[in-house]
Amino acid sequence: MTSINFDKVIDDYLSSERKRTPRKRDFKIFYPSELTFPCLRGQYLKYTQPEIPISPKTQRIFKIGTIIHDFIQDSFKKANSEFSLRDLEASIQGAYSASGDLIRIRGRADAIIERNGEEYIIEIKSIKPQPYKDDVFRFLNEPKEGHLKQILWYMQSANIKKGVIIYIEKVGAETRTFPITLDDYSNQQSITETAKKLYKHLKTRTIPPRETNHWNNKICIYCQYSKVCKGELTGSLQLKSQGFKEILIVDIETATVDLELDRFHPDNCIICEIGIVNLNLDTGVVDIVFNQTCREDKLCSPSSWVFQNTSLTYNEVINAVNLHYYHEEIQKIFNMKPVTSWNQQFDFKILEHPSRNFKIPLKFWDPMEVLTNYFKIPSPSGFGYKWPTVQEALNYFNPAGRIVQKHGAINDAKNTANIIFQAVQKWPKIDFLH
Ligand code: SF4
Repeated sequence: MTSINFDKVIDDYLSSERKRTPRKRDFKIFYPSELTFPCLRGQYLKYTQPEIPISPKTQRIFKIGTIIHDFIQDSFKKANSEFSLRDLEASIQGAYSASGDLIRIRGRADAIIERNGEEYIIEIKSIKPQPYKDDVFRFLNEPKEGHLKQILWYMQSANIKKGVIIYIEKVGAETRTFPITLDDYSNQQSITETAKKLYKHLKTRTIPPRETNHWNNKICIYCQYSKVCKGELTGSLQLKSQGFKEILIVDIETATVDLELDRFHPDNCIICEIGIVNLNLDTGVVDIVFNQTCREDKLCSPSSWVFQNTSLTYNEVINAVNLHYYHEEIQKIFNMKPVTSWNQQFDFKILEHPSRNFKIPLKFWDPMEVLTNYFKIPSPSGFGYKWPTVQEALNYFNPAGRIVQKHGAINDAKNTANIIFQAVQKWPKIDFLH
């Protein structure tokens, strides 16, 4: 007999238990256990990203937690001499006004008990095995912040002044309890405020800034959205489908340092103009977000292409403010929404080059690359299609040739925005395919 694969039996059972239709998130409903996740951006991504499947290993860990949880709740049912059990999995709700709308927080407290005429909210938290045999809770001298916020919200919402958090260790089932009195925490920031902040971001579809200090700590390492957060997952399948309705388009103009060398190499050019516009994908409205001439530490050649082909002059550039000065402002803009440019291979490479160190966390699809297969302009080589220029794209959508591309960062950003808008109108599925 071939050996039995018991791991498969367990994993199949767990995945059959978890199988459910992916739920569409209601942006106005929040859950206490999620509001205590210590990163607003992570909470936002949970609402706006497709659900990420849980690995078999994590499913097993969750199951052990559930079994322990059920075991403690079962023991409560027989505990009549110590206290009376009022409720298990007690449903608690609250409604709040946020950004002009009504939002709700819904949760379930593990138990409500009564002792000597007083009610208590009980929260049970299983924790992983601890290596300290003499005292498994050696480093747990107070409740964890998220657990505290969660129980305080239950207590406030149910108007119950007392509570207990019970920690149970997963191997020896040892417990440590922390009694909580609502009055002792009157200054604690409530998860209600977090829900209001999160709703504001969801309503305006603006992703909260990345909490960069987290990046090397456990929160980011174990965050299921870290790839999206870092911009490693690009394309609007992840972005548009999550409900972004506004994107940013950036364009840069560069001047060449040494005319003898490759003028497109990030080391051999300086950024001398940056234009950023905001495009509303539903309405096509384009707003200027940033528009500045600048220089960098290196000098550039007065004979650079940009001074021959745009209205920008060499004098304007050498007298402009250094790009360092704008760095923080531009980075904040990039952190807000998905960003694209016409030919990201060029613009993003220069912007993200270590000497400039911009980060573009959410990258929208590159219109130059994606539209190649829609415009179908034959390649001069005779094979396939060529990458369209901005002017060719303008010609495609305006065959009468009324729009002539004016070079310059802000003009190119605006033109790119108009091309993207016309493309998503003409090919509505384009956003879900790329
Ligand atoms: S990776 Fe870090 S900063 Fe990004 S969403 Fe996750 S926890 Fe937040």
